[in-house]
Amino acid sequence: MRKVLSIIAAGSLALALAACGSDDSGSDAGGDAGTVGVAMPTKSSERWIADGNNIKEQLEDAGYSVDLQYAEDDIPTQVSQVENMVTKGVDILVIAAIDGTALGDVLETAESQDIPVIAYDRLIRESDTVDYYTTFDNFKVGVLQAESLVEGLKASGEGPYNVELFAGSPDDNNATFFFNGAMSVLQPMIDSGEIVVPSGQTDFEQVAILRWDPATAQKRMEDILTSTYASEKVQGVLSPYDGLSLGIIAALTGNGYTSADLPVVTGQDAEVQSVKSIQADEQYSTIFKDTRELAKVTVDMIKAIGADEEPEVNDTETYDNGVIVVPSYLLDPVTVTKDDVTEVLVDSGYYTEDEIQP
Ligand code: BGC
Repeated sequence: MRKVLSIIAAGSLALALAACGSDDSGSDAGGDAGTVGVAMPTKSSERWIADGNNIKEQLEDAGYSVDLQYAEDDIPTQVSQVENMVTKGVDILVIAAIDGTALGDVLETAESQDIPVIAYDRLIRESDTVDYYTTFDNFKVGVLQAESLVEGLKASGEGPYNVELFAGSPDDNNATFFFNGAMSVLQPMIDSGEIVVPSGQTDFEQVAILRWDPATAQKRMEDILTSTYASEKVQGVLSPYDGLSLGIIAALTGNGYTSADLPVVTGQDAEVQSVKSIQADEQYSTIFKDTRELAKVTVDMIKAIGADEEPEVNDTETYDNGVIVVPSYLLDPVTVTKDDVTEVLVDSGYYTEDEIQP
C-alpha cells in the first residue's frame, strides 16, 4: 500500500515539477525544477544553520526554488510553517521535526495533495505519510560517543570511573538511538563495576534533556555536583550533543574543575565552540556528521522522486516510526578528538584553520 502511494506520489510530483515553473512560493533564487519546502528546527544550534544553507544551495544549484524556514524549537511555529508550505503548494517537503509526533494532521493534508515527505535527520513518528528518511547511523553515533568516553577514561588512569549520563530530547527519536547505542557499550561496564554512576540516574527518562537545551543540562550537572560529588570527582560525562557539553563544562568549571581535572566529556556535531573547547583540552570528543553529505543524499532523493525514479536507500529495517518502517539512507558518523581535528574537519574543507582556533 505504501509503495503504491509512494509511486503515485512520485508520479504526481514528476507532473507537478514539470508544471510548476512559474511557482513563486520559494525564496529568492532557484529555477523551474519545482519548489521544495524545508522545515528546520532552530537556528540556536550551528549544525541546523549549516544543514539549511547546504540543502538550499544544493537545491538551487539543481534548479529548485526553496522555501526554508526555522521554528526556534517551537512546535506550533513549525506546524504552521509546514501548513503554509502545503497551502502554498510546494512540490515536496523536507522536515527536520522538533517533536517527531507533532506533525500528523498537516502531513495528512500534504498527502491528500500528493506532496511527498522526506524526514530529514530526525524521524517523523506515528505517521504513515513519511516517504523517506535521510540521516546518519544514529545507533552508531551513540556507540562512538561511548567508545571515545571509555578511551578517554582509560587514558586518564585506572578505574573504576565515576561517570554521569546525559541524553537528548525525549521527543526526538534520535535521542533514544544515541542513548541505546552508548549504553550498549557502557551498560556491561556498569554491570561489571568498571563504571560507576554515583547519582544513580541511569534511565533514559532521568537523564534526557528536553529540547536539547544547554541551560537545562548545565542545571542538571550543577544539581548532581551538589547532591553527589561533595567528596569525590566526576571523571566522565556522556553528553550526546555539543551544546549540552558546553553547558555541562560550564557547570563543572563553575564548581572548580579546571582543564587539568575536567572529566572526559563527549559531544556531537563538531560545532565551532566545541571544536575550540576540544583543542583547549576541555571537551574530549565530538561526533562529526558531514551536513554537506546529508544535504547531498537528500537532494539526490528529491531529484529521483522528481524524475519518477526509485530513490537510493541503504536501510529498510531500522526506522520503524510506530506505523511504518521508513526507507532510509544512513550516512556514517566520525569521531573527532584533539588528534583528528585537522584531518577530519580542516582537510575536508568543513572548517578553515582560522575558524576553529581556540
Ligand atoms: C541530531 C543531532 C543534534 C541534536 C540536537 C539530533 O536530532 O541528530 O545531530 O545534536 O538533534 O540538535
